[in-house]
Amino acid sequence: MRKLLPVILVFLAVSCAAEESSEGFSVVASDFPSYDAARAILGGKGGVTMLLPPGTESHSYDPNPRDMIKIAECDLVVYTGGASDEWVRTILSSLDSPPASFALTDQVQLLWEEQKEGMETEDGHQHDHSEHEIDEHVWTSPVNEAVIIRNLSDVIVSLDPMNEDIYRSNAEEYIARIMELDAEFRSIVENSERNTLIFASRFPLLYFVREYGLDYYAAFPGCAEESEPSARTVAFLIDKAKELEVPCILTIELSSELIARTIAEEAGCDVRVFNTLHNVTASDFRSGKDYPELMGENIEVLKEALN
Ligand SMILES: [Zn+2]
Repeated sequence: MRKLLPVILVFLAVSCAAEESSEGFSVVASDFPSYDAARAILGGKGGVTMLLPPGTESHSYDPNPRDMIKIAECDLVVYTGGASDEWVRTILSSLDSPPASFALTDQVQLLWEEQKEGMETEDGHQHDHSEHEIDEHVWTSPVNEAVIIRNLSDVIVSLDPMNEDIYRSNAEEYIARIMELDAEFRSIVENSERNTLIFASRFPLLYFVREYGLDYYAAFPGCAEESEPSARTVAFLIDKAKELEVPCILTIELSSELIARTIAEEAGCDVRVFNTLHNVTASDFRSGKDYPELMGENIEVLKEALN
């Protein structure tokens, strides 16, 4: 990111001469959760651009000069606001007249990334609480997502009041779909035999498990750089899976299932993928799959994992 700044500034100087887009209200989103929220509220009104390419890893994305120009020229930037897209803040602060901005992590009560028993630490050492990062995956709780949609719709209405009725009704419909999901998850947890999920991967679901009162074990905290977990971590997860007799080991989308298969084979259970909506595949992006659909795919997974 930093190495790109000189290039960026040159491009921005050039872009100042470029004409403003006249195609209505425009939003630039850093990643999928931001894109999905803005798209839901705008409906067909205005345009939303996602900078992260579909199907790619969201934590290591580096913006290119074209992204800077898009940010400089749009009406509103929506971004997560954590470590994975901190480059958005850098770009905004480099602009003389930055567009309005909205960070998902500014909307809800934040949690620290958690170092749980058995987890791999990023560098093999234990950390002080002060060295931990804020967990940026606020959208993984449907309750948080509903708050995000409501707050974002307020911001969009304030910037484009002519279309207030459309934005408000789009937001209300979306929130209703999200809260249906919330009710489903709540009922699954209430009626389940178990309370603990085992993830053989990173664990970006702290907001989800806290919302529904679930317990968990995982190989890595938050979205720590995923390398091979140590033999110790794998052994710990195998023991937990056997002890709790879990029906499946979970892993997250766009991640290697190899470790999960190893643990599942040892513990004699299945592997299932829990979608955390970091990004979507290119085909899901083209077909316009949204938060309620993608999060809804987790209903069966959760049912299976807890029973
Ligand atoms: Zn993440």
